[in-house]
Amino acid sequence: MARYTGPVCRLCRREGQKLYLKGDKCYLDKCPISRRNYAPGQHGQGRRAKMSNYGMQLREKQKVRRHYGILEGQMRKYYAMAEKMQGITGENLLKILEMRLDNVVYRLGLAESRAEARQLVTHGHFKVNGKKVDIPSYLTLVGDNIEVKEKSISSPKFKEIAEKHQGNAKQWLSVNAEKMQGSIVSEPTREDIDLPIEEHLIVELYSK
Ligand code: SF4
Repeated sequence: MARYTGPVCRLCRREGQKLYLKGDKCYLDKCPISRRNYAPGQHGQGRRAKMSNYGMQLREKQKVRRHYGILEGQMRKYYAMAEKMQGITGENLLKILEMRLDNVVYRLGLAESRAEARQLVTHGHFKVNGKKVDIPSYLTLVGDNIEVKEKSISSPKFKEIAEKHQGNAKQWLSVNAEKMQGSIVSEPTREDIDLPIEEHLIVELYSK
């Protein structure tokens, strides 16, 4: 599936905030947004024009797409699913995105960023409920067990991840860092999704 492969820090600068797309670097002084918090490109340092309602809705949607590394078509598909679910559409949308396998792997601390999680999943390093799954967009369910394949645990990449692992995860997940596995205890609540997003703007955009 096609995806954005350009410089990711540029995406944060475009949105004017950290999107945490690069793992450790995002928490260091090296993060470009700490040093150059203006839009990329020739006119990036100019005064930003006052944004229209449509502009704000569009930016919010782009921000979510960039956080989770998904394309417009997928985003619309998730929105259609969210609309059909009970509850608040914007929250449903974020919950669906959180349940993607690549995001769960990242949230469990088994990858340093969502982009890395996507790559590791695609390379077949994970099992869900004992079966290999190599589809990053795979939607997990409450009760699912996610684990790094036995063969992969001894690879340098996973050894590095294990060394850095803090042994904690979001409340809706449980993790066993030693065994490099975790499970989904419950659906994430809106409070669990610690992203500075105004999802109602996305709903306004898509419901036009
Ligand atoms: Fe964004 Fe991380 Fe790059 Fe900083 S280091 S601009 S937070 S991707």
